[in-house]
Amino acid sequence: MNTRIIFVTGGVASALGKGIVASSLGRLLKSRGLKVSMQKMDPYLNMDPGTMNPYQHGEVFVTADGAETDLDLGHYERFIDEPLSQLSTITTGRIMWDLFEKQRQGDFNGETIQIVPHVTNRIKQAIFDNIHANGADIHIVEIGGTVGDIEGQPYLEALRQFQWEVGRENCFFVHLTLVPYLEAAGEAKTKPTQHSVNTLQGMGIQPDIVVCRTSHSLSPEQKQKIANFCNLKLSHVLESPDAETIYEVPLILHQQGIDDIVTETFSIQTPPADLSNWKQIVQNIKEPVKEVNIALVGKYIELHDAYLSIVESLTHAGAAYQSKVNIHWVQAEDVTPETAEDMLAAMDGILLPGGFGKRGIEGKILAAQFARTHKVPLLGICYGMHMVVIEFARNVLGWKDANTSEVDEQTTHPVIDLMADQNNITQMGGTMRLGQYPCKLEPGTKTYAAYGEPEVMERHRHRYEFNNKYRQDFIDAGMVIAGVNPQRDLVEIVELKDHPWFVAGQFHPEFLSRPNRPHPLFAGFIDAALKQR
Ligand code: GLN
Repeated sequence: MNTRIIFVTGGVASALGKGIVASSLGRLLKSRGLKVSMQKMDPYLNMDPGTMNPYQHGEVFVTADGAETDLDLGHYERFIDEPLSQLSTITTGRIMWDLFEKQRQGDFNGETIQIVPHVTNRIKQAIFDNIHANGADIHIVEIGGTVGDIEGQPYLEALRQFQWEVGRENCFFVHLTLVPYLEAAGEAKTKPTQHSVNTLQGMGIQPDIVVCRTSHSLSPEQKQKIANFCNLKLSHVLESPDAETIYEVPLILHQQGIDDIVTETFSIQTPPADLSNWKQIVQNIKEPVKEVNIALVGKYIELHDAYLSIVESLTHAGAAYQSKVNIHWVQAEDVTPETAEDMLAAMDGILLPGGFGKRGIEGKILAAQFARTHKVPLLGICYGMHMVVIEFARNVLGWKDANTSEVDEQTTHPVIDLMADQNNITQMGGTMRLGQYPCKLEPGTKTYAAYGEPEVMERHRHRYEFNNKYRQDFIDAGMVIAGVNPQRDLVEIVELKDHPWFVAGQFHPEFLSRPNRPHPLFAGFIDAALKQR
């Protein structure tokens, strides 16, 4: 095995941005010509985030092969720009499920099934499976949660064993901690970091570097103290201050030599990192020359992580036009016939994101109507496309009770309906139309012009779809079918003529946008919104 493995753990507090640090390291090592793969291990008992509440978990990121994953995988793909897969993620829930199934199949021959070795072996297997499938030079594994969590123990034990199985020289441990700044004392405190590293050491793992999240820069003395207590060289204590944009984190860590430390530790010879393109992107984000106001009309707006990939996609598209995108978080339920004008008139563009269920849909339909009739650029995504179709049916075709059968099974016009193969599904989770499918584009449409190619692949996560029974009615009334799935003739993209930009797709373009490659539909949307100003 030629793959070297980097493990990223976290301590002191959650939500420090372990995913960003892991991804940043991945980006830097890729910039040095190395092939990088990444993986996330989540110690919770859910099978996957597919059925978890967005309020608790943020968005569900979908891979090309249809895995419903933690939002950190979105960061991985955006930073390293390599496709991830089902093998890129595992949870304790999934591991337990597999073990219980094997038990019922009689695979254990009466053995006692235990955390060590059965669960720990399964964790190690998940890492090996990924390494063998990808054959990368560097494989980065992030462990969810915080060192000291009860549910995380089997993972740390698995890593402890793993390092000796593949050779300690082939493993590198990054530990991310928080160094809190106490206003009253006027100083940053290193003690929690010492404790956290001690806990890790107590599990048999010595970190190779410690990265400290700080709001105030650490003094050389403080770094020395951490180095002493954590059994590290001074140069291996790094800091990650709050950054203006997450895309700056690779540059901040690079300045402190993180990629040199890793390549030297692994004795890998590579050219220095070429970060010129990345620096340009960061500069475009930090020093915009224009700005644009986009209303994001959704129902989970209190938690922006629920729309994380959309937010990032807007940033990427904005950067391409050297523009700051001001996102106005509009609670869909608050949009009513009385408030719509006030809430939306100042917007240069309206984005209708994906979603589920009844709450807020009438507000989204009103926002679609506002965009259509006031010629405000609109981008609709998945459920957002459903809203656009319903609005058109009600107000252009005159079918007053038109709806999606997701919220009204009695409607006389189910313009959005359950897909044929979804009718008998009773299980929750993993049962939607998931992952990547082709979409054939109609020449002469705005969509075609934006993509500049006849067929594209896009990622999906839905149960309901445009009802083909009504397709001709929509076309006759002026709606353009700009993209279809060639195998099943499903409507994938609709748009309007005589409108600056009114495009809605059944898929999730936000999963494919990269800082270095903004998604064509987001770019087209932002371009139109800039012209709208
Ligand atoms: N609720 C819709 C469906 O299941 C849309 C899903 C989504 O927006 N991701 O088809």
